[in-house]
Amino acid sequence: MLRLSEIKLPLDHSSEAIKDQILKRLDVSDSQLITYRILKRSIDARSNDQIKFIYSIEVSVKDEKALLRRLPRKKNVSKAKEIHYKYVAKAREDFFCNNKVRPVVVGAGPCGYFAALLLAQMGFRPLLLERGKQVKLRTLETFGFWRGKRSFDPGSNVQFGEGGAGTFSDGKLYSQVSDPQHYGRKVLEELVASGANPEILTNHRPHIGTYKLATVVRGLRSRIEKLGGEILFERKMEELILKKSIPDVGEGKPFEVEGIKLSDGSFVKTDNLILALGHSARDTFAMLERVGVHLEPKLFSIGFRVEHPQAIVDNAQWGGMAGHPKLGHAEYKLVHHASNGRCVYTFCMCPGGLVVGSASEEGGVVTNGMSQHSRNERNANSALVVDVWKEDLADYERWSGDPLAGVFFQQALERRAFELGGNNYFAPVQRIEDFLMLRPSEFLGSVQPSYLPGITLADLNQSLPPPFIEAIKESLPVFGRRFKPFSYPDAVITAIETRTSSPIRIPRDSSMESINIKGLIPAGEGAGYAGGILSAGIDGIRAAEALATRMTGDSSSLLR
Ligand SMILES: Cc1cc2nc3c(=O)[nH]c(=O)nc-3n(C[C@H](O)[C@H](O)[C@H](O)COP(=O)(O)OP(=O)(O)OC[C@H]3O[C@@H](n4cnc5c(N)ncnc54)[C@H](O)[C@@H]3O)c2cc1C
Repeated sequence: MLRLSEIKLPLDHSSEAIKDQILKRLDVSDSQLITYRILKRSIDARSNDQIKFIYSIEVSVKDEKALLRRLPRKKNVSKAKEIHYKYVAKAREDFFCNNKVRPVVVGAGPCGYFAALLLAQMGFRPLLLERGKQVKLRTLETFGFWRGKRSFDPGSNVQFGEGGAGTFSDGKLYSQVSDPQHYGRKVLEELVASGANPEILTNHRPHIGTYKLATVVRGLRSRIEKLGGEILFERKMEELILKKSIPDVGEGKPFEVEGIKLSDGSFVKTDNLILALGHSARDTFAMLERVGVHLEPKLFSIGFRVEHPQAIVDNAQWGGMAGHPKLGHAEYKLVHHASNGRCVYTFCMCPGGLVVGSASEEGGVVTNGMSQHSRNERNANSALVVDVWKEDLADYERWSGDPLAGVFFQQALERRAFELGGNNYFAPVQRIEDFLMLRPSEFLGSVQPSYLPGITLADLNQSLPPPFIEAIKESLPVFGRRFKPFSYPDAVITAIETRTSSPIRIPRDSSMESINIKGLIPAGEGAGYAGGILSAGIDGIRAAEALATRMTGDSSSLLR
């Protein structure tokens, strides 16, 4: 197989054009070409009157070796790297016969679901426990809250329930994590096998969208169950039960996992546990700290959601090509290093999406963004956030280095936003021009904020500590010069964005085990090892492999 990269074609190219380009690039005849398939399709928009698709293509031709020798290097042709994943069971019958209890995964977000799927594929029949509800019921309840028909439920919301935090999201599936084992590809393939559109395998910036994600999540569940896994909902891990360990030579971990106590009072015995809790399991973080799991504070970012009309974002990005059906809606990413040393950046942009209430605790307002697959809502939204420094947490520490200080800081800001919004889960909103001029908004302009369940006009200068406000104020005109929509005075900001990543880390050793608890594998975003759906899925696969190695002593990788 050969890989051809940098094949550039106009947006309206014919279906034959790719093949023509392959033949031309390889200088071969039609009869020499055996098959080809698109590996990736991205968009080159450097010149917005000549936007093009760029393809990477895998090609099979006769006499491949001879052809490779003959072609000059500059033709962007190389030998394709073939990736195959083993589905060989690692668990043997004697594993179950020798009184071994099955592995347990806590948390049914992307990390937990991929860990459970892989364990099931390896024959371990895992038990997956989730504090929230099945996706159908969860959708009903969360959308009911957004539509003002149900009161806020701390047990069933955007953060907690089947599918995890990203279930009601844009479902963007790209990541910058290092992935030498190509497990990102495995995640995408499994999502397609669970019902996602195969185009996610080839699009450079794939996304699934809220409603489709719910279907995919159900598909993942049924595949785990068919392979012998068991998934229980409304089963919160209330307490991790540890016992003194007999340390292996040189290892010296004082405790090991004995089991977990659940919210229904039952006890689940296990000595192999993956914790895939997500970034919002604050009560569980506190419990872990209390029982002695080593936790560390981890820095994150805070800020607002900003909204512009999608049409002006498309115009700024695509120029005269805006609205072309093959382009979809435009995205952006901006960064500014402010003079006070803070970094301001946009993050988790949702084209044609909605800003949604994403709290998981009573008395707090939290924003985040989601889109449907069509990305057809009027506004583009994005997080506009600033990095938190260690000294910002000083007032929230119970002692120096308190691992939960970030959680307390987030809670204080979420409560402040709740008050500014009117103490009813409405979010405080301000026009950007008013924010820059230090006056509360009294009316909206042409941009209608989309936040659900509702908004209150306010002055967001009061919602964050001064260094964050100063940095955002400095960044807005800078962004506006670089990307026109940011100079739009009617654009709106909604407070508050606090759950950008986990405020804690659960450090692990080279075998992915907790550094002080045997049998405990902390994984995914909550443990500080992922920052999105794809990277959480990748970490879930790695965690499953690490657990399988621990249980069987077989360290062979999933990748052939
Ligand atoms: C509205 C929104 C939009 C987003 N959009 C995107 C996007 O487009 N693309 C992207 O890459 N990322 C997005 N994210 C981020 C992404 O969802 C997370 O990075 C990802 O879900 C993390 O996966 P995880 O499995 O580590 O944790 P989570 O998805 O948070 O899952 C953790 C699960 O553990 C459960 N749990 C917690 N404590 C316990 C306990 N004690 N007992 C039992 N169960 C427990 C929770 O209920 C939850 O279901 C978005 C997030 C939100 C909130």
